[in-house]
Amino acid sequence: MTEGSVALEGVTKRYGTETVVAGVSLAIAPGEFFTLLGPSGSGKTTTLSMLAGFVMADEGRVMLGGQDMTHVPPRGRGLGMVFQNYAIFPHLNVAENVAFPLTVKRAPKAEIAARVAEALEMVKLTGFETRYARQLSGGQQQRVALARAIVAHPRIVLMDEPLGALDKNLRYHMQVEIKEISRRLGMTVIYVTHDQEEALTMSDRIAIMERGRIAQMGPPREVYENPDSSFVAAFLGEANLLPARRDGQAVAGPGGARFQAGAGALASAEGLLFIRPEKVTISAAAAGEGANTLPGQVRHTSFLGNVVRYAVEVPEGAVVLCDAANGAGAVLHAPGDPVRLNWRAEDCRLLAA
Ligand code: ADP
Ligand code: MG
Repeated sequence: MTEGSVALEGVTKRYGTETVVAGVSLAIAPGEFFTLLGPSGSGKTTTLSMLAGFVMADEGRVMLGGQDMTHVPPRGRGLGMVFQNYAIFPHLNVAENVAFPLTVKRAPKAEIAARVAEALEMVKLTGFETRYARQLSGGQQQRVALARAIVAHPRIVLMDEPLGALDKNLRYHMQVEIKEISRRLGMTVIYVTHDQEEALTMSDRIAIMERGRIAQMGPPREVYENPDSSFVAAFLGEANLLPARRDGQAVAGPGGARFQAGAGALASAEGLLFIRPEKVTISAAAAGEGANTLPGQVRHTSFLGNVVRYAVEVPEGAVVLCDAANGAGAVLHAPGDPVRLNWRAEDCRLLAA
């Protein structure tokens, strides 16, 4: 079944002399929840707009459901859409807003009524049919936009920062809801966000964009654990990136300390040794030496409740962040304490600077 499949083949967009999307290729399977993640200006919205047909690609092809849609206008693409600034119509009430994609297609009245009721039930807005935008909270308006996007049962839905305007709790609630609805309807979702946590929790796969290109693409855990570049490492969560260079089959780090790195992890001869704070173990300095260890001194501690974050100064002035679970019997280290850090070879990688 190719109905819900999406592909971009070498898609490029230029504005004047600036190339804002540079030869992007990707293939998304029917029913997949796929996220474009990246900093502001990296080309996420432009990529989504080319899928939607609002922006024409200068080069490359846009394939939807196995068909070449590169030159088909937005109406002919049969997509559902939720955009952050694609507000609901103020002169229409909730039911009329949600019905809109069906009324423009002149669907039979009875069918429209049934579909609208179903969509409102899914976003938990049954009973709000006759309200107008000004009588709804931001979260409720966003749900109306979501109901409008799914009312025609599109196989593919595009969402551009749909939760950007909502506060943290509501955002989390809506994330769960969007995920649940997309699963229930078996829709392919292409989701845009600059929020890494949102991307990690919601996606089957994430493409991280950097200046108009896909820097890396893969399941959340894979890109988080095995970033190919310091850009991806630093964008997707906290990362320690220590000056280091290749030394035979090992890595030389701060103060000449030697590290073993995971298989295939010596991506560069000279660069940055990558290790996530939660993969670093901290212990009292007296604890034994060994592979992949660094001596240091605690500079700062942040008590985050379930986790204690240590900033530890290591040789040559570098600072390593270490997250220690505040579990039963956890021993806390205080600022000034000498400590020893260590980590497993498979958890660190030498990345190009
Ligand atoms: P993102 O959604 O990742 O923040 P955009 O796709 O909106 O990024 O923009 C990517 C780049 O393209 C930005 O530098 C932006 O200024 C530029 N850009 C977007 N739309 C236009 C336009 N219509 N004309 C000129 N430049 C544009
Ligand atoms: Mg954008």
